[in-house]
Amino acid sequence: MLDEQTEAGRVALIGAGPGDPELLTLKARRLLHEADVVIYDRLVSSEILELARREAIVIEVGKIPDGPSWKQDDINALMVQHAGGGAHVARLKSGDPAVFGRLDEEMDALDNAGIAFEIIPGITSAAAAAASIKVSWTRRGRNKSFRLMTGHDVDGFAEHDWRGLAQAGAAAAIYMGVRAARFVQGRLMIHGADPDTPITAIENASRSDQKIVATTLGGLPDALAGAGITGPAILFLGLAPREALDVADRIDTTHIPTAEAL
Ligand code: SAH
Repeated sequence: MLDEQTEAGRVALIGAGPGDPELLTLKARRLLHEADVVIYDRLVSSEILELARREAIVIEVGKIPDGPSWKQDDINALMVQHAGGGAHVARLKSGDPAVFGRLDEEMDALDNAGIAFEIIPGITSAAAAAASIKVSWTRRGRNKSFRLMTGHDVDGFAEHDWRGLAQAGAAAAIYMGVRAARFVQGRLMIHGADPDTPITAIENASRSDQKIVATTLGGLPDALAGAGITGPAILFLGLAPREALDVADRIDTTHIPTAEAL
């Protein structure tokens, strides 16, 4: 007699990367292809969803800033419902699931329901954005740390260590920062940041409709409005596109070892 017990369901919490399907990991692709149910965020690109099996149930759980949204509890319940029924669920999240992705709430819900899960890291949008403008997050002689910041949190525009961020050489990626741009500008300037500090906005990084706006802290809100940046974008504080730098800036001669040091 056949064992009637259903196979245990499970969830893969998958980083879908910034949009370009070639930036998906092989593991993400395999799990997506094996999934019975695919639950995805609004920013996951359609080329990636095409990698799901034809028979898979594919559900969007979009969260539109200031628009109609799925509630996090309902997303959690959906995963629990399908995996609890024995399905292999691929939960696709944009970029890396551990970066501003409410990953902990989803892990807690799965743990509470006794459902096994694994996490597949993805390329976070700030990594793709840095590649698009050919800069490093960290560079010898410029910055020893790099921050991932959000423009918003549950209370509205997010507060940060503005004094530290206003220092020369500070570098950061601001997620969800477009609407907070004027606020960020004001906070940094009050704390003494140089208005000429470079800021680069990269909208739709890695996608065919990518847009790059290179500006300065002083010109930030006007530059974003002028370029019509409305989609998902990373704002880099303290980083200018490589081609905007002159050669002396690009070659960090202070750290090239001298003959005696070799
Ligand atoms: N987990 C995601 C971030 C989710 S928060 C990651 O690791 O990238 C959503 C924010 O991510 C957006 O407001 C935007 O700031 C950024 N974002 C997501 N996809 C992007 C893309 N292709 N280009 C630029 N920014 C992007």
